[in-house]
Amino acid sequence: MHILVTGGAGYIGSVVVEELVRRGDQVTVYDNLSQGHRAAVHPGAAFVQGDLADKAALTTLFDEGGVHAVMHFASHTLVGESMQAPFKYLGANVTNGLNLLQTMVGHGVKRFILSSTANLFDQPVRMPIDETEPIVPGSPYGESKFILERVLYWLDQIHGLRYAALRYFNAAGASQERGEDHDPETHLIPLVLQVALGQRDHIVVFGSDYPTRDGTCVRDYIHVVDLAQAHILALDALDEGSRTYNLGNGMGYTVREVIETAREVTGQDIPAVDGPRRPGDPPTLVAGSAQLRAELGWEPRYPELRDIVGSAWNWHRAHPHGYSA
Ligand code: UDP
Repeated sequence: MHILVTGGAGYIGSVVVEELVRRGDQVTVYDNLSQGHRAAVHPGAAFVQGDLADKAALTTLFDEGGVHAVMHFASHTLVGESMQAPFKYLGANVTNGLNLLQTMVGHGVKRFILSSTANLFDQPVRMPIDETEPIVPGSPYGESKFILERVLYWLDQIHGLRYAALRYFNAAGASQERGEDHDPETHLIPLVLQVALGQRDHIVVFGSDYPTRDGTCVRDYIHVVDLAQAHILALDALDEGSRTYNLGNGMGYTVREVIETAREVTGQDIPAVDGPRRPGDPPTLVAGSAQLRAELGWEPRYPELRDIVGSAWNWHRAHPHGYSA
C-alpha cells in the first residue's frame, strides 16, 4: 500500500512511518518542517517538503497517483497556545485538513486516519473516558480536531470516505531511533529528562491541590510505538467501515509518580518545585480503550510507565540535543 503521511517528520508521525516502512508499505511523507525534523524521516520513505495550505502542491502530489490512504498528523498541537492564538487552530488546523480532504476526495482517495485528541473531554463525567463520553472540547485545539471529526462523518456519508479518528491521550516514550524533540518543549516527560541530563535545574509541578491521590494531575501515558501500532490496525480495518476510538493505556499516573519513575530510571535526583496550576488542565484524564482492544485486537506492548520513561531516557541520552545533535 502507498500511504501519504502528513506530519511524518514529527514525533508521532515519524514513529508511524518507521512502522509502516518496516512492514513493507510504500510511504511518502509530506511535512513543512515547521515542527518536524528531516532527520526523523525514515530513509525508506520518500520525503516532500510542503505545506497543507498550498493546494497547488497538494494537487500535484495527488496527480502523480498511486496513494491508497492518508494519515494526517500535521497540525498545531498545543492546547495552551490555542487559547492565545485561536485562529491558528480554528483557522489553519481546520482549513489545512479541509484542503487535504478535498484534494483526496477529488482524486478518489478514500482512506484516512486522523490524529484526534483527549482534549475533546474537558469535563469528563466518567473515568476511564470511553467513546460514549459527551464531547466538550477544552480549547480551540480540541475544537479544531472535533470539527475535522465531523467533516469526516459527512465525507463518509456523502463520498464513502472511510476514516478512523484516534483520540490520543498522552503519547510518550521513543522507538530505538525516534523520539520527542519539540521547540519549545512543553511536555512533562521530556522536560523531566532534560533535568536528569543537567539541561534544566528543576521541573515545575503545575498544581499540587487537585482532587487526586497526591494532589497532582493524573494522565494516561501511552508508548508511542503502541500508538503507532493502533494506527496500523486502524488502517487495515478501514474497508470494514469508519470508526472513532479513544486511545490510551487505561492507567493513570500522577505528575509526581512520573517524576519518581524518572528518578528511578535515570538514577538522578531531578529536583521538583511546586508551582501554580496550568490553565486548562483537567485533574484526571484516563482512556477507556476497550472498544479498540475488542474490535482491532490492539494490546499495548509497553504499558508500564517505567518502560515508557526508560525508552524516552535511552533516546534522550543518545540525542541530548534532539535531532540537531
Ligand atoms: N506538567 C507539569 N510540569 C511541566 C509540564 C507538564 O506539571 O513542566 C503536567 C501538566 O500539568 C499535566 C501533565 O504534566 O498535568 C502532562 O502534561 P503534558 O504537557 O506532558 O501533556 P498534556 O496532558 O498537556 O497533553
